[in-house]
Amino acid sequence: MFAEIIINTTAKRLQQTFSYIVPEGMAVRVGSRVLVPFGHRREEGIVVALQEHLAEPADFTLKPIEGLLSTQTGFQEEMIRTALWIRDYYVCNLSDALRLFMIDKKGLVRRDVVSAGPAQPQTADEARLQTYVAGKGRCEKGALSRRFGQDLVEKALASQVLTSRICYKNQIADKMEDWLSFAADDTEAILHGRRRQQELLQALKAKGEGPVSYWQGQGYSRNLMRRLCATGLACWSQRPARTTNVLPSLARDEAFSLTAEQQQALKVIGSDEHGKTYVLHGITSSGKTEIYMQLTSQALKKGKQVVVLVPEIALTGQIVRRFLRRFGDDVVVMHSQLSQGEKRNNWLRMQNGTSHICIGARSAVFAAAQSIGLFIVDEAHDSSYKQDEAPRYHAVAVARQRAAYYGCPVVLGSATPALADYYRALQGEYVLVELKERVGHRPLPAVQVVDMRDELARGNYRVVSDALLTLLEETLAARQQAIILLNRRGFSTFVMCRKCGYVVKCDTCDVAMVYHRQAAHLRCHYCDAEKPIPTVCPSCGSKYIKFFGSGTEKVEAQLHELLPTARIIRLDQDTTSRKHSGDRIIEAFRRHEYDILLGTQMVAKGHDFPGVSAVGILSADSLLNIPAYWAGERTFQLLTQAAGRAGRGDIPGRVIMQTYAPDHYVIQCAARQDYRAFYDQEVQFRKELGYPPFQEMAKILVQDESEEQVWRKANDVAAALNSWNQDHGDEVAVIGPYEDVIKKIRNKYRVVLSLTGKDLTAIKKAMQHLPACWQTGVIIDIDPM
Ligand code: ADP
Ligand code: ZN
Ligand code: ZN
Repeated sequence: MFAEIIINTTAKRLQQTFSYIVPEGMAVRVGSRVLVPFGHRREEGIVVALQEHLAEPADFTLKPIEGLLSTQTGFQEEMIRTALWIRDYYVCNLSDALRLFMIDKKGLVRRDVVSAGPAQPQTADEARLQTYVAGKGRCEKGALSRRFGQDLVEKALASQVLTSRICYKNQIADKMEDWLSFAADDTEAILHGRRRQQELLQALKAKGEGPVSYWQGQGYSRNLMRRLCATGLACWSQRPARTTNVLPSLARDEAFSLTAEQQQALKVIGSDEHGKTYVLHGITSSGKTEIYMQLTSQALKKGKQVVVLVPEIALTGQIVRRFLRRFGDDVVVMHSQLSQGEKRNNWLRMQNGTSHICIGARSAVFAAAQSIGLFIVDEAHDSSYKQDEAPRYHAVAVARQRAAYYGCPVVLGSATPALADYYRALQGEYVLVELKERVGHRPLPAVQVVDMRDELARGNYRVVSDALLTLLEETLAARQQAIILLNRRGFSTFVMCRKCGYVVKCDTCDVAMVYHRQAAHLRCHYCDAEKPIPTVCPSCGSKYIKFFGSGTEKVEAQLHELLPTARIIRLDQDTTSRKHSGDRIIEAFRRHEYDILLGTQMVAKGHDFPGVSAVGILSADSLLNIPAYWAGERTFQLLTQAAGRAGRGDIPGRVIMQTYAPDHYVIQCAARQDYRAFYDQEVQFRKELGYPPFQEMAKILVQDESEEQVWRKANDVAAALNSWNQDHGDEVAVIGPYEDVIKKIRNKYRVVLSLTGKDLTAIKKAMQHLPACWQTGVIIDIDPM
């Protein structure tokens, strides 16, 4: 038997596979992690294929695999397949793709193990050393050197008083944890007069068992627990450490009986037989999460595992808590703040089937599993599902790929589905499932659009309109809470007239032109057109041409002035950079320690604040002016999501959207929260201009430390693409090269090319014919966002 092995390394030259002999009796399978001799070294290899015969006879002697590494953390065959797909689809290294599935990304752990040697010791020190090592059987060389001194250990090794060998170890042991559980009923007599022990026993009886650390948190000392165990009424044990769930999930909640709409949705998705993708389009508060949970129950009943993806910011939120409450220990939550040990434990629990539900952000799509029965992607339109470094995968695409292997459904839940997903659903490629009503017939919030040009005409130059100020005052007076969204992104890159709202746009594309500081002009990123920066408004002649710069801090100061008694807290990148600070802010706001939550798009996402009755959106159109075909879609999503934060409790919600473009269809549709109307217009626009989903897209980013070089490279790439294209029926349109919005990052100049075409394979074929220089310093992004 022969194994095709990929070396676990990022080195480009090692990205091909190598053949090895599988020794007789070694339990190697596709996905095994193995130790192989490689040149003069040993390396970790991953088995990507097994075969009885070599396709081509080798012209050198093949070596055998030396050993199996880590039986625990190997790959399933499905993972290898998905990784191969990722490599081909996203044009990346196979080992980079495989590493996405790994929990111990460091790879091989090398250890020098020392044991007693055959030689007689010559000195008393050596004798002591040899006796010590013989007594232990074997020691780690580093530890031994620290104890006895490195010189002595080296000398003993040289004279064979000790021998050493190298061990490679990737074994991951389960971390153990102390548990206390109920063992027998008190006969009253035993605990007579021991009040605290009686209380603990009662609590144990009522709540079941839990980790010792939990009971300590409840105010019982370890000593007390030990004494109770000595009576035989409770039992102390060691178990594999728990996942990092908040608590032993003692308080369980029950499934709701579903509304008619929910029932219908559950029926459609629950009876899936072909592993289809479902777009679950339900307005905010329509009961999507409840459907996720009941679908999950169904999958668990079939003995399957479930992967639930949520946007990063929602990880501490409502949805995770609700899953924990319903499914308790069966859930592992994967988030970036876990320690490596906790991550491993969670990973292993899924891999060996101890837990059945994995909730996490983007990377949880790579969860290990025995058999997956369902993928759920909440807020599936969220841009955080796309990884912005290599491999630049999209979690939904990966989920669909894995689901295809398992033959299980993928549910894409959203109040504002990604346009491309909705399009595919209407085309019949996906299945559309709609929830049109809020649970309990709660009304949607009432939205008022405020034209900021009118404010200026009336002499209000503040960022807060009079209408919003009144709404805030009323909200505070009623002791309710408000959220204010300021979308800082895109603010400083475009040019706008403060008097008439005019934005400088490209003449041939419907996108705002981007201000390039160094070149001191405006440029279109879709057709490369250039324009000078106007000094007076080309539309109304005013000189209030501005590059906007109001950040959240500035708004906060203004709000303090206007509403001196309001307790305001800010949520943005600056205030959430520290660990957990984002959760703390959100929790404090939920507890109504603050009246107004002010922030960037973070405030719009997925939170459920029952106390919030008012939402103010300061600059509804700022995202619209980002020079990208998806600007309208992103704006619509953000506005609808933000508006949906109002009125989730019992108080009806009110929303104010401030804009310079009140008649823009995106603003209008968002104000009516009419997804379909938005979709119908937007899809038309995409079709006419040939943007996704009507055309496939890829981006090539060329980077170099020299500005001259970067342009030369980029021009070479463009020329090669164009000439290939001409010979192959002009299937691919090449746009650029153009300077990236950010000209230089980490001392590297950045130049971009966009490729569009009917067919992704044509685009990739064109890219495969790039000149040799594309191998270094070129980043390829398929389906860029
Ligand atoms: P979404 O995920 O679409 O925003 P949720 O699932 O969070 O909606 O539901 C909104 C609220 O309605 C939640 O508080 C939830 O507990 C409640 N809810 C959901 N389904 C039902 C039901 N069938 N009966 C009663 N309450 C429900
Ligand atoms: Zn103007
Ligand atoms: Zn243009």
